[in-house]
Amino acid sequence: MTEQPPEGGRSRQLPVFHCPYCGDEELTPYEGESAGGWRCGACLRAFSVRLIATGVQQG
Ligand SMILES: [Zn+2]
Repeated sequence: MTEQPPEGGRSRQLPVFHCPYCGDEELTPYEGESAGGWRCGACLRAFSVRLIATGVQQG
């Protein structure tokens, strides 16, 4: 798997190492309607990962 430098640098993909549906590691970048997605080569699902929070504690 070859890594390409992110173009623009704004919409950088979050690294995903396992498919959240079947747990397979055969993930390839998916460039469909929603950029920054991933496609699982095992279950053929395409999904996107979005960061909704960081590890900061409340209070
Ligand atoms: Zn999968």
